[in-house]
Amino acid sequence: MSERPRILIAGGGIGGLALAHALRRGGLDVAVFEKVAEPESRAQGYRIHLDADGDAALRECLPAHVLDLVRRTSGVPNDLLAAYTDQLQQVMAQTFPSDSTDEITHVDRRAFRNALLAELGEDVHLDRTVTDYQMTDAGRVRVLFAEGGSDEGDVLVGADGIGSAVRRGLLPDATVRDLGLRCV
Ligand SMILES: Cc1cc2nc3c(=O)[nH]c(=O)nc-3n(C[C@H](O)[C@H](O)[C@H](O)COP(=O)(O)OP(=O)(O)OC[C@H]3O[C@@H](n4cnc5c(N)ncnc54)[C@H](O)[C@@H]3O)c2cc1C
Repeated sequence: MSERPRILIAGGGIGGLALAHALRRGGLDVAVFEKVAEPESRAQGYRIHLDADGDAALRECLPAHVLDLVRRTSGVPNDLLAAYTDQLQQVMAQTFPSDSTDEITHVDRRAFRNALLAELGEDVHLDRTVTDYQMTDAGRVRVLFAEGGSDEGDVLVGADGIGSAVRRGLLPDATVRDLGLRCV
C-alpha cells in the first residue's frame, strides 16, 4: 500500500459521498466514480429522515460549511410525516422528536446530495460506470469502466447501490430479494 492510501469508491450516492468526506477528513486520497454524467440527471426522491446516529455521523464526516448547507435544508424537529388514502384517511403518522433545534432530522434529498458534492470537486468522477475490478500483482485494486479505461487504488468500496457491480464481483452468488414493498 502506498504511503497515503488511495480509496476508490464506486457510486456517488449519499453513502459514497458522505464516506468520501469522512476519508478526506482522515487525510486519505479518495476517488468517487459515479455513473451518471450530470448530478441532476437522476431523480433523488423526496426527503430523507435522519435519526440521532445519522445526525452525529454527518457531524463527524462533513466540514462545517458543508454541514451548514445540509442543515439549511433540514425540516423543523417534531414535524409530522403522514400518509393518507385518496379519501384523506390517515394511514400513517410519524414525528421525529428532537430537543435540539440544531439537530438535522430530515432533509431534501437533492439539496443534501448537492451539498455533499459541492466540496469534493475533482475527487468525484462523473460518467464513470464501474463494471468490474481486478487485483493487481502489486496488491492494489483496479476498477474498470464501461466508458473505457480504468483506475487504480489501494482499497475499493462498493457504494453503488442495490445493483452493485462491486458486489457482483465479490459475491457473485448473492442475489437481491424483492420483498414486494412499494412506496409511491
Ligand atoms: C422510499 C424510500 C424511503 C427511504 N427513506 C429513508 C429515510 O427516511 N431515512 C434513511 O436513512 N433512509 C431511507 N431510505 C434508504 C436510503 O434512501 C438508502 O439507504 C440510501 O439512499 C442508500 O444510499 P447509497 O449511497 O448507499 O445508495 P444509492 O443512493 O442507491 O446510490 C448509489 C449510487 O451509485 C451509482 N451507481 C450505481 N451503479 C453504479 C456503477 N456501476 N458505477 C458507478 N456508479 C454507480 C448510482 O447512480 C447512485 O448515485 C429510503 C429508501 C427508500 C426507497
